[in-house]
Amino acid sequence: MDYELTGEQKKLQQDVALFCAREIAPGAQKLDVSPKEEVGSFIRENLRKLGEAGFLGAGLAGDSLDLVEHYVAGEEIAKACASTFLSARASVFMCGGLIKLFSEAEKQEKYLPGLMKGDLVGAVAYTEAEAGSDIASIATTAKNEGGTWILNGVKDIVGNAPIADVLIVLAYTDMEAGAEKGMSLFIVERDAKGLNIGSPLETMGLRGLPLSEVRLDNCEAKEILGGEPGKGYGQLDRILKMGAVSIVSLSVGIGMACMEKATQHAKSRKAFGRQIGKYQGVGFKLADMFTGNDLGRMLGLRAAWAMNRGENEADILGACAKLFATESTTNIANLAMQIFAGHGYIKGTDIERLYRDAKFGEICEGPSEIQRTIIAKNELDKFA
Ligand SMILES: Cc1cc2nc3c(=O)[nH]c(=O)nc-3n(C[C@H](O)[C@H](O)[C@H](O)COP(=O)(O)OP(=O)(O)OC[C@H]3O[C@@H](n4cnc5c(N)ncnc54)[C@H](O)[C@@H]3O)c2cc1C
Repeated sequence: MDYELTGEQKKLQQDVALFCAREIAPGAQKLDVSPKEEVGSFIRENLRKLGEAGFLGAGLAGDSLDLVEHYVAGEEIAKACASTFLSARASVFMCGGLIKLFSEAEKQEKYLPGLMKGDLVGAVAYTEAEAGSDIASIATTAKNEGGTWILNGVKDIVGNAPIADVLIVLAYTDMEAGAEKGMSLFIVERDAKGLNIGSPLETMGLRGLPLSEVRLDNCEAKEILGGEPGKGYGQLDRILKMGAVSIVSLSVGIGMACMEKATQHAKSRKAFGRQIGKYQGVGFKLADMFTGNDLGRMLGLRAAWAMNRGENEADILGACAKLFATESTTNIANLAMQIFAGHGYIKGTDIERLYRDAKFGEICEGPSEIQRTIIAKNELDKFA
């Protein structure tokens, strides 16, 4: 058994960490408090910087998706600015990943270089007002009219939508066939007729992520992802399962930022004549934070490694990693806030931002309850 990253992976980690500390982290706070109308241009700039440095498409450059590489770069980007990572992830890992895994070579050539450089921004739209975790309940439909697919429906929460050049949209092409055979993913370009992007949505955390509703009013989509209808559910399910690893990197990145800031504070802040970190009540919190981050990273990397190798249990390991790391990060942010106490609670501080950002992992893309359900079912099936 070897827990070491390869030399290349270590170098990637160091390079991304240095780059992000210099180019991305200093703007994280400003991005968080910018008016929603302004975050789009800010984020585009961050994506371009990451693209030019060659880090935006980490894990997507080879023949298949490299989850370990994606994790290693992702944790460092998220540590510097969680909103930037989430936007980069929606654009390149989710939208670009779907194109890479399932579309023809011609489409890959058309979109992937631009997405990986940050010249194009991608988004993936599946959530609706009546369908989040229960993807099968979406109401959006697509009908083929003379070779053009006409989409109708509303996707109510779509990351990157306000700035997206290309969107991948989930719709029923045959509702009677059910989700697994009747859904398809469509590539919809920004200028498609009938595509309407709503006003930016305000969020509690990750405020730097451009987010809005997407309305499809007889929207014309020329392309089905992969060319054949009826494969959308499986395609989306695949990228979401891989995406669990990516959410772990987001959460551990936030956890690492919390731990670093809380440790600095524990060393510099004095109370009753001593560094507060010297009090056991504070030191134990740092110990729990370190342990949570380390376990989250270990589970995330193990799931990534298993997915790269196509291991049978890889998806369950991904579910376990997402469940543990995201809940652990909420706890870590809470401990960090406790160490900063009133001085962390003031709006505009890093800890206040990280505390709000931390919750997202637990509620997105298969909230904890769904991960527990998946893991429990796997256990029950194993012993059937
Ligand atoms: C910042 C942000 C960015 C996002 N970006 C995107 C995006 O780019 N594209 C997109 O399509 N969507 C996006 N979303 C939406 C997100 O993916 C959904 O919010 C998420 O999938 C959960 O769905 P929901 O909110 O409808 O919750 P629901 O699925 O309605 O769940 C509500 C609660 O019920 C629980 N629950 C549901 N079913 C079960 C069950 N069977 N057993 C036990 N408990 C259950 C859940 O765990 C949860 O606690 C984004 C959301 C946010 C906040």
